[in-house]
Amino acid sequence: METKLLKNISLFFLGVFVVLLQSVTVVAALITDVRLWSAPDHSRVVLDLTQPVQYESSSQEKLLQFHVVLTGASLYTQKRELETDDPFVAKLTLKELEKGKVKLILHQKKPLTVNVFALKPYQDKTYRLVIDLVDAAQEKKEQEERQKQKEIKPKGTKIVVIDPGHGGEDPGAIGPSKTMEKDIVLKIGEKLIHLLNQDREIKAFLTRRGDYFIPLEERIKISREYGADLFISLHTDGSFNPQARGSSIYCLSLSGATDEAAKILADKENTSNILGGAVLRPAAFAKDPNLNRILLDLMQNNSMKESFRFAEMLLGDLKTIHTIKYPSYRQANFIVLKAPDIPSILVETAYITNKEDERLLNRNDFQEKMAITINGSVMKYFRP
Ligand SMILES: [Zn+2]
Repeated sequence: METKLLKNISLFFLGVFVVLLQSVTVVAALITDVRLWSAPDHSRVVLDLTQPVQYESSSQEKLLQFHVVLTGASLYTQKRELETDDPFVAKLTLKELEKGKVKLILHQKKPLTVNVFALKPYQDKTYRLVIDLVDAAQEKKEQEERQKQKEIKPKGTKIVVIDPGHGGEDPGAIGPSKTMEKDIVLKIGEKLIHLLNQDREIKAFLTRRGDYFIPLEERIKISREYGADLFISLHTDGSFNPQARGSSIYCLSLSGATDEAAKILADKENTSNILGGAVLRPAAFAKDPNLNRILLDLMQNNSMKESFRFAEMLLGDLKTIHTIKYPSYRQANFIVLKAPDIPSILVETAYITNKEDERLLNRNDFQEKMAITINGSVMKYFRP
C-alpha cells in the first residue's frame, strides 16, 4: 500500500481573508491549498489558486532545487516549510517574496525532469498550477520491467491488467459518507491481482499502485507494454439520484453509445483526464506510421468481440453477489477501453452515491466478493 505516501498538505485560509481581500483594491490570487502526490516514477505538486497567475520557473541544479515564482499571488503566512517522505521531493517551501509575489521551492532528493503547467477551473476544481517532477531513469526502468514481462512470459500464460480508475487529483465519484471511488477501486484491484496471481498460468498487474493519477491513454500504453491479454478497468458509479444502485459493465463502442445513459457515463469517465490533470500527448495509435490501418481494424473487431464475451460472462457472475443495473453490458466511447489489440471492459462495481452501496463498497467482505467474482470470470474466460 502506498497510500501512506499521500501527503495532503493543506494550507487553508479562512474565508475571512477572502472577505478582507475583496475590500482592498488590488485583488491577487490566493494560494488556498498545496498537495503532493507520489507515483513510482514521479511526484506531482498542485497549487490551488482563486485566479490565474503569472509564473516563472527555474531549475537550480547545483542546489538540487526547483523554483517557481508566482506573480499576482498571495500567501497568508510569512513562510511555510513542509517536510515530506516522498521518494523524490524532500521538502516544499512556500514564501512571500514581496507583495503579490510568492516563491515555491521544491527541495529535490535527486536530479529530476520538471514540467510546470496551469489548469483552468473544471467542475469543483479551481485554477491549478501543476508541477510534475519526473525521475526519467525510474520511468524508463518501470517501462522496461513491464516490457520484460511480455518477453519472459511462458507459453500459455495469460497477462491480465487491472486498472483502478481515477487517482491523485481525480477522486472519481464521492459517496454520501465521503468515500472516494479512487480508494475503493484500488482496494478491489489489489485484492483481485492477488487472487489472479495465485493461478500459475496467469500474471496480473495494476496500472496504478497508489494514490496518483495516470492519464487514460497512459493506462492503455501500460497494458500494451505488459502485453495484456485482458484489461479490466474498475470503477464505482455515481448519480444525482441517490436511489440508483447496482453493478454494470461497459464495453467500447466505435459507432455511438447504446443509450443516452451510457454516453453520459462515458463522458463522465473521460473527464478523468481533465480532473486528474493529464499532460496532452498525441493519441497512442493515430500517429504511429508502422501500424497498418486494416490490420488495426481487424484487431479492434476481434478485441471487441472478446470483450463482449467476457462482459456477458462477468455480468452473469456478478448477478450472484449484487443487484445488476442492466440486463446486458452497455457500450459507449470510453477512452480507456480503446486499445485495439486488448479485450477491454469497464466494471462499475456499485453506486458509491447510494447509501447502501457505499456501505457495501467500504466493507472488506464485499470488496473481497467482488474480487473473487471477477477472478472466477477471468478463469472461465481463458478456459472456456
Ligand atoms: Zn470512475
